Amino acid sequence: MTIDSAPALDLAPLRAGFAGTVLTPADGEAYDVARTGFNAMFDRRPAVVAQATSVADVVHAVGFARSSGLPLAVRGGGHSVAGYSTIEGGLLLDLGPMKGIEVDPVARVARVQPGVVWGELDRATQAHGLATTGGRMTTTGVAGFALGSGSGWLERLHGTACDNLLAAEVVTADGRVVTASDTDNPDLLWGLRGAGGNFGIVTEFTFRLHPIGPEVYGGRMMFPISRAPEVLRSVRDFFLEAPREVCGGMICMTAPQAPFVPEEMRGRPAVGIMAAYWGDVEAGASVLAPLKALGAAVDMIGPTTYLDIQASSDPSNPPGRRNYWRSEFMPTVPDEVLDAAIACAMEATSPASALILAPLGGAFGDVAEDATALGGRAAQWLFHCYAIWENGDPDGDARHIAWARSTAAALEPWTMAGMGLNLVSDVDESRIRETFGAEKYARLTELKRAWDPENFFAMNQNIRPVVGPR
Ligand SMILES: Cc1cc2nc3c(=O)[nH]c(=O)nc-3n(C[C@H](O)[C@H](O)[C@H](O)COP(=O)(O)OP(=O)(O)OC[C@H]3O[C@@H](n4cnc5c(N)ncnc54)[C@H](O)[C@@H]3O)c2cc1C
Repeated sequence: MTIDSAPALDLAPLRAGFAGTVLTPADGEAYDVARTGFNAMFDRRPAVVAQATSVADVVHAVGFARSSGLPLAVRGGGHSVAGYSTIEGGLLLDLGPMKGIEVDPVARVARVQPGVVWGELDRATQAHGLATTGGRMTTTGVAGFALGSGSGWLERLHGTACDNLLAAEVVTADGRVVTASDTDNPDLLWGLRGAGGNFGIVTEFTFRLHPIGPEVYGGRMMFPISRAPEVLRSVRDFFLEAPREVCGGMICMTAPQAPFVPEEMRGRPAVGIMAAYWGDVEAGASVLAPLKALGAAVDMIGPTTYLDIQASSDPSNPPGRRNYWRSEFMPTVPDEVLDAAIACAMEATSPASALILAPLGGAFGDVAEDATALGGRAAQWLFHCYAIWENGDPDGDARHIAWARSTAAALEPWTMAGMGLNLVSDVDESRIRETFGAEKYARLTELKRAWDPENFFAMNQNIRPVVGPR
C-alpha cells in the first residue's frame, strides 16, 4: 500500500470524548505552532496534536492511540533535547494546557499538573518563601525534567527534582489512573524517579518544598580566558570546601555581545562563574567573599532573589536553535580536566556553545544508591557540554556536533556512570544500560513489563520490557 492509497485517519472517535483542542496539518499555523518543540533539530509532523486539559482527556487520548495504532509522543514543556516530545506521523499528546498548581505552605508540598514550566512553579512556591529543586531555565517543563532526574541549583542542599518527588498520579498504558507513592505502588515511584516517561503519563506530581529566599545572595562573574587556569583552580577548590548551601558552576564560554561585558571581552572566549548561597543574605556575602576577591572583569554577585537566579540563564538559550548536548558525572576534577575544558572552549564552533562544570555532593550524595532509579550518587561533579547554533547555519550541523563529541571524548577519562539522561542527545540502549548499571537496568525492565508490557510509551529514554514468562 502506498502513502497515497492509505486510508484517511478517522479522528472522530478522538474528538468525540476529548475536551481539549485537536489539530491536524489542515489547521495550518496553529498546527505548526503546536507541533514545534524547543530543539529545532527535530522538525517532525505528527498526524495529529491533541492538547489535553484534564486527566480524562489523557485517558481518552491513550485509548484512541491504542485503538488506532498511532504511535504516541507525550509533551510536557517540550524541552527534550533528544526530540522525544515530537513525532513523525503519530499522535502528539501535548499536556501544555494542564497548568494547575496547588501549594500547601503548611505541609510544604506542591501538587503540580504536567503542563507547568519551572518559571510558573517557582513563582507559585516563592509566594510562600518556598521552592523545590527546579530547572535552570524558566521555560523547561516540570514533567520531563523531574522524571529524568532534574538537576538544578538547589540540588546540593535539597537533592534533585526526582529526590523531591513524593507522589505521582499516573495514567497507565491500559488507561487506568493509579497513584505512585511510598505506600501505593512504591516500585512505580522508584522508577519515575529518574527513568523518564517509560511507565505511564504523569498527570499530577507532588513535590516536597523547602524554605528558600525570596531574597538570596548570588549571581555571576566573568573573567577573560587568559585568567582561566588560575581562576578555575581557585573556584574548583572553593566549591570543594563550600557548605552544601552553596551552589554554582564554572562555565567555559564565549562572552556575549552585551553592554555589561567590557568591549574587549565581547565575542571572545571567557570563563563564567555562577554561585549562590541558599540562606541568610549576610551569611551568603561572607561565604562567597573569596570568589569576589578573585577580581572578576564582570561581577554581578550580590543580593538578589531566588526568582532572578532561576531566570538568569534564560537569555543564553532561547527556543528555536539547534542543540546537541553531552553530559557526564565525574568523581573528581583534577587540573587536567580544567586544562582540557579550557582547550575545548577555545575550539567552540558557535558563540552559544559552552562547557559547564558544576559541583555535586551534599544532599545529592546523601541519597542511597538504590533508593531511586537515578544513581551516580558518589559523583562530586557533572560536566554539561552543549553545542547550540542557529537554525539554518549554512555550514550545517556536523562541525558543531563534532565539537561536542570531541569535548566529551577529551573529558571521558575522568567520568563515571550514572548521569541522568536529560542532558544527553544520543541515548541508545547501550547508553541507557550504562547509565543505570546492570542491576537497576534489570529492575527497570521488570517494572516496564509490569506497567507497559507492549512498550506503548516508547518515545523516551526507552527501557524495553523484559520478555518471557515471569
Ligand atoms: C533550555 C533547557 C534548559 C534545561 N535545563 C536543565 C537543567 O537545568 N537541569 C536538567 O536536569 N535538565 C535541564 N534540561 C533538560 C530537561 O530536563 C529535559 O529536556 C526535560 O525532558 C524537559 O522536560 P519537558 O517537560 O520540557 O520535556 P518534554 O520535551 O515535554 O518531554 C521530555 C520527555 O519526558 C516525557 N514526558 C513529558 N511529560 C511527561 C508526563 N507528564 N508523563 C510522562 N512522561 C512525560 C516525554 O514523553 C519525553 O520523553 C534543559 C533543557 C533545555 C532545553
